[in-house]
Amino acid sequence: MISLTNFAKSLVFAAVIAEIVLHYIERYRKRKQNSGHLNEVMFFTDKGVECKEHCYRMISCDKKSCSYFNMRRLIQLLQGAKSSLDVCMYLITLKCVTDLIIKMHRKGVKVRIIIDADMAGSTGAQVHALRKYGVPVRMKKSPFLMHHKFAVINNHILVSGSCNWTMQAVSGNWDNIIVTSEPNLVIPFSQHFAQLWKEFSEIDYTVKGYIQGCTVQQK
Ligand SMILES: [Zn+2]
Repeated sequence: MISLTNFAKSLVFAAVIAEIVLHYIERYRKRKQNSGHLNEVMFFTDKGVECKEHCYRMISCDKKSCSYFNMRRLIQLLQGAKSSLDVCMYLITLKCVTDLIIKMHRKGVKVRIIIDADMAGSTGAQVHALRKYGVPVRMKKSPFLMHHKFAVINNHILVSGSCNWTMQAVSGNWDNIIVTSEPNLVIPFSQHFAQLWKEFSEIDYTVKGYIQGCTVQQK
């Protein structure tokens, strides 16, 4: 039979162990926080259409569904690009995002854009603006879609989901974006981007007659 003294000793021992475990959990949590660990989700809904104007004017209102709220976060994440910004996007039409990408490129951030070749010629596509300012853009003429919607910032943060960087997506569609700095997710996306970057070309397939035999997008 366990004595009262031994029982008390066991309780003290258990309390000390619990304290040590909690201490290390807290230390781990703080370290993750300090290292800029990110895990976020954004949802876009049809309610966002009420605030479309706020996206154009880049001001938020007090509505929880304000579409500029998520768009502002996307912009904030892109502004965090210090060393590199790799974007693999089916379609980009958001001018404010394009302007920001150009700004980052001019600041010396290593920017690389992969886009769908057919969508590059669609109304509002920003490919020509990006190229005009020397931002490297690659695409591949193919019967298949380059349907990805992801970006890797500083080789450290992944932004991915169903959302194209278009006004329709941020202020009218049901769409989502996941933001994470989990290396198990970020690294495969970085590697996949590098693979596509090698495979795709710098040819602008939307320029009429640039390549014989290619289907030319009519603007
Ligand atoms: Zn609003």
